[in-house]
Amino acid sequence: KIAAYGVRENEIESFHDLNKYSYDLKLIPENLTHENVQTAQGCDAVLLRGNNVGDQQNLDQLKEYGIKYVFTRTVGFNHIDLKAAQNNQQLVAYVPGYSPLSVSELAFTLGLTLQRHIALATSRTARGDFKVHTDEFATEIHDLTIGIIGTGRIGREEAALWKGVNATVVGFDRYPSDANQDLLTYVDEDELLSRSDIVSLHVPYFPDSNHHYFNQSYIDKMKNGAILVNTARAEITDVSAILDAVETGKLTGFATDVVENEGHIFGHDFAGQPTEDDLADRALRLYPKVIMTPHIGSYTREALHDMIAISYENFNDVLTT
Ligand code: NAD
Repeated sequence: KIAAYGVRENEIESFHDLNKYSYDLKLIPENLTHENVQTAQGCDAVLLRGNNVGDQQNLDQLKEYGIKYVFTRTVGFNHIDLKAAQNNQQLVAYVPGYSPLSVSELAFTLGLTLQRHIALATSRTARGDFKVHTDEFATEIHDLTIGIIGTGRIGREEAALWKGVNATVVGFDRYPSDANQDLLTYVDEDELLSRSDIVSLHVPYFPDSNHHYFNQSYIDKMKNGAILVNTARAEITDVSAILDAVETGKLTGFATDVVENEGHIFGHDFAGQPTEDDLADRALRLYPKVIMTPHIGSYTREALHDMIAISYENFNDVLTT
């Protein structure tokens, strides 16, 4: 029997449709907290979301109920105390990747939205200004060069989208893949920055090696008037420097789906919590050249479906091995 916590309305159908193993399910709308951990009593496994509390206190309690499997239907697992789970001999499983198309389609859309000045023009027409302004001038896609930094699961899909509409796509990755050669041309990072009209970031965050690595010196190397899109992790960027660059016109626009210190990554029960107090204010002031979305890259029917399907597979794997 699986106790699934934090089950949203739009997940319920997938939980039932994908249950080919006919697991007995307890679907709990609330996130797992210290206060409601007892609802898992009588189950064999818990299935968590990223903003559920998987700390030592809860894991110890779950152990007392005889629960040996702690699964999360998320890529991140920072919300689960792995050391405590190991001490309790509880098996932890996660979903290493799902629906890369969802994130790549958002990155592609954000890039195009800024390139065609959709938000800028809409902010004017909404105020009754129907004049054409010189800063709404754009370029056809076949004349654009798109730079993809990090050509893994998501970056590769974004390259395919741009390639499909005849843009020139260049890529940079620590480990270039032969399988991507038909989608993009690998170049070194400096060349990518100097050539690209839109730079899109798809590298994971490693606190020890790439904290704020996309900083002023990277921006200086970018083409004047370029656009930057980040759907990876905010911690890889120095957002202040990027907003400065939008303010001075060095960058035409910046779109981000992520803010630093996001609650659902670090296990607290709150949504995005930017470390910079005035980030939202600054971003609003720079809107519509700055577009922020609240980590909706994977918030699609297909991605939610994949997360649940892979979680079932994980459960089936541990029960059959
Ligand atoms: P992936 O592991 O498949 O690909 C990452 C690629 O980056 C790899 O090819 C790797 O070699 C390369 N790389 C790593 N460090 C690098 C560096 N310093 N310089 C150059 N290349 C480097 O990962 P993915 O599944 O494509 O995910 C990419 C990012 O997207 C992750 O940060 C992930 O957290 C983020 N993500 C965001 C959302 C969202 O909703 N916005 C959803 C899922 C994932």
